[in-house]
Amino acid sequence: MAVDSAKLIDIIKAIADKITENREYLTELDSAIGDADHGINMSKGFKVVVERISGMEGKDCGTILKTVGMALVSTVGGASGPLYGTAFMRAGQAVDGKNQLNFEDLILLMEAALEGIKYRGKAGRGEKTIVDALEPAVEALKLHREKGFEAALKEAVEAAKRGMEDTKNIMAKKGRASYLGERSLGHQDPGATSCYLMIETMALQLLGDKKA
Ligand code: ADP
Ligand code: MG
Repeated sequence: MAVDSAKLIDIIKAIADKITENREYLTELDSAIGDADHGINMSKGFKVVVERISGMEGKDCGTILKTVGMALVSTVGGASGPLYGTAFMRAGQAVDGKNQLNFEDLILLMEAALEGIKYRGKAGRGEKTIVDALEPAVEALKLHREKGFEAALKEAVEAAKRGMEDTKNIMAKKGRASYLGERSLGHQDPGATSCYLMIETMALQLLGDKKA
């Protein structure tokens, strides 16, 4: 696996497209247990992300990821802006100055993103948040790293998907959905869903034609 700045920009643009395509779906999920704005928040943020990273091919991967983070923090209203913003900023710091990323760098930046979200949101696994999709994915990447990046990435996508689906069976302990208590049961978490969509899109981009 080798990702240069131009490829990184392509991956981020693909993520932005995926989020925009799922704007209504994410908003619908948030209408059940939140305030019906997650898809709106995220697509607004990623529109600005695409504007800011366009033409950044000459910059290193860390700078590009930090630019994504800053764009999300400054444009996304709601809890998800500072959370995803911190994740991308931390990911950028983890690969600061690098013009090319390999599989080990990917693990490093994903770990840093997870740490950033946990630091900012103080959520652990099982609280019906972004962490429930991201943490299993990061764990799978590490657990399966010896199998090579393609196999490990596929495992990570599967783990994120299971984590996302499992949020239906848990009560929200953080964020707006926590006000609902037991009534949050039975609903899939919007943030875990947007996180899964991002991981799946990144994997498809990295795997090329080979299905994630
Ligand atoms: P808001 O809840 O402010 O309207 P969004 O609707 O954009 O913000 O995002 C809601 C999502 O944010 C939730 O589905 C959840 O996954 C995520 N979230 C909320 N609080 C936390 C937290 N403390 N840690 C991690 N993720 C969180
Ligand atoms: Mg919301």
